[in-house]
Amino acid sequence: MITVSGARKSYGDFTALDDVSLEIPPGSLTALLGPSGSGKSTLLRAIAGLETLDSGRVAIAGVDVTGLPPQKRGIGFVFQHYAAFKHMTVRDNVAFGLTIRRKPKAQVRAKVDELLEIVGLEGFQHRYPSQLSGGQRQRMALARALAVDPEVLLLDEPFGALDAKVRADLRRWLRRLHDEVHVTTVLVTHDQEEALDVADRIAVLNKGGIEQVGNPVDLYDRPANDFVMSFLGSVA
Ligand code: ATP
Ligand code: MG
Repeated sequence: MITVSGARKSYGDFTALDDVSLEIPPGSLTALLGPSGSGKSTLLRAIAGLETLDSGRVAIAGVDVTGLPPQKRGIGFVFQHYAAFKHMTVRDNVAFGLTIRRKPKAQVRAKVDELLEIVGLEGFQHRYPSQLSGGQRQRMALARALAVDPEVLLLDEPFGALDAKVRADLRRWLRRLHDEVHVTTVLVTHDQEEALDVADRIAVLNKGGIEQVGNPVDLYDRPANDFVMSFLGSVA
């Protein structure tokens, strides 16, 4: 469970998060959905510890992490423009988080093999990131984020820069991965189709606040207000 309570964040006079409270159930794949500028990334970054809230608290798995830095929060994250280490092979990129924790070599090797298989990159382990397609690179990024067995996986528009067909493949693949690994996942997207397709819970954001939280069918069939209705009904 991730619990955000009373989160507020302003940049100058602009309010990016306006008293946001949200509970994200353990093991769920929750989408933060909303138009550009609605506060999705700010909320995700606050959960990650990359953004300091003006007020409010964040708890992960029952532990108040509000004052903790990202590396002490038990999270893995993947961003839209993922920065891989260009001079390292796929294998070394995936292993990175384990290597810097000085895990035994045999343990690292076994874990990386398992992850490369899960993300379908077994045959690509000796390549460099520049020799991968965009979709393969994002799968590498996910494997790298999962390597340290995070409590929580945070994804900010991880498929955003890719074409529609690759995005659709990757989200099906993310769904399968999630069904296998069950790590609590938060996916930021402005794409209602993506959220409806992949998430088991959706929180709809607008102007720094949450309009509605529910499962995709509830939101689609029973939108709480005109904003949710028109946003879910509109095509990206
Ligand atoms: P997008 O879909 O475009 O990524 P978003 O929902 O992720 O949008 P945020 O990045 O959370 O939106 O930003 C919310 C608002 O806060 C925006 O209006 C943005 O301009 C503003 N904002 C975000 N970061 C900063 C910052 N460092 N300084 C000033 N304003 C910021
Ligand atoms: Mg964003």
